[in-house]
Amino acid sequence: MLTCKLRPHHGLCIAFFEGKGYSPDFVENMTRVIAALNEDDPAITLTDRADTICAGCPNDRGGVCESADKVARYDAAVLRLIGRKCGDTLRWSELCALADARILDPGRLGEVCLDCQWYGICGNK
Ligand code: SF4
Repeated sequence: MLTCKLRPHHGLCIAFFEGKGYSPDFVENMTRVIAALNEDDPAITLTDRADTICAGCPNDRGGVCESADKVARYDAAVLRLIGRKCGDTLRWSELCALADARILDPGRLGEVCLDCQWYGICGNK
């Protein structure tokens, strides 16, 4: 079974993914990862480092995101809202359920990532 590391806010990005991204390699990798997550429902370990989604991203500078401060803020907000911490391991379906119940359904996405360049897409769904 697939096990993977995931930055907490990427659980939200995946929920809104519609085939757009930073580069063709990034989109291809993200599409493949999402398919595997939904098919296998693997154990996910929450991380504050480059993760399975970051592979293929042109903003990944040797394991450090070009927007490190911003994405760290997004991750911290997600962890606070779902009541988890980095290093925790949970099923992909459990992370999705927590994100739905505590962030998306109550309309709290803006508390996480209002200044993301993609918020015009994600925040209007
Ligand atoms: S607005 Fe940005 S950080 Fe928030 S879910 Fe969308 S892509 Fe992810």
